[in-house]
Amino acid sequence: MSADDWKIANRLFQTIGSLDRIVFLDEDGYLMPATIVLVTNPPPDEDHFIEYSHPEYHIFVPGIAKHLQNAAKGNLILLAENFKLQDLPVLTVDTLIVGIAAHEVRHRLQHFIPKNCWFSPDCSPKDGYMEKVVKFVDRLFHYDPPRGDFNKEFDAKVIEFAAMEYYWKATQKGKNLKTIIPLLAEIIGKLP
Ligand SMILES: [Zn+2]
Repeated sequence: MSADDWKIANRLFQTIGSLDRIVFLDEDGYLMPATIVLVTNPPPDEDHFIEYSHPEYHIFVPGIAKHLQNAAKGNLILLAENFKLQDLPVLTVDTLIVGIAAHEVRHRLQHFIPKNCWFSPDCSPKDGYMEKVVKFVDRLFHYDPPRGDFNKEFDAKVIEFAAMEYYWKATQKGKNLKTIIPLLAEIIGKLP
């Protein structure tokens, strides 16, 4: 494990923790704290450095920095406006961390919200932007189906893309992660 692995794992830990604390704060201010475990064993497979295994988040530390640096080599998909492929910004590890954290916190929320509230290929959200994201994930999963439970992964992937695009837009306006955490938590959803 390198120092970089710990640095990245800690940033993920912090981001998940901050988002989770807002999403799982109910009206009475009662907090259902999450357990986030930094695992020092190698990940179960090379694409699987983080998972939500009810009721715990697991972050596999060895090799996580290299994994995210490789994953950040593509472009960030922006769906709000019709960007041409060549105009899309490059992904960054920071953006990926936000996407992964939102994805995993949504997996936790899936245990508390009814299945018919999850995003799915047949749902048509009233929000035009979310509808674009749903259609995009539908196409993506058509060519590259997810491992694990299709419905769970579809729903979490929609949240992941929406969170990354929101984060990117906010950073363009000079905002930092800390100030937009509550808005990202709103994208993930709320306890019923
Ligand atoms: Zn997932």
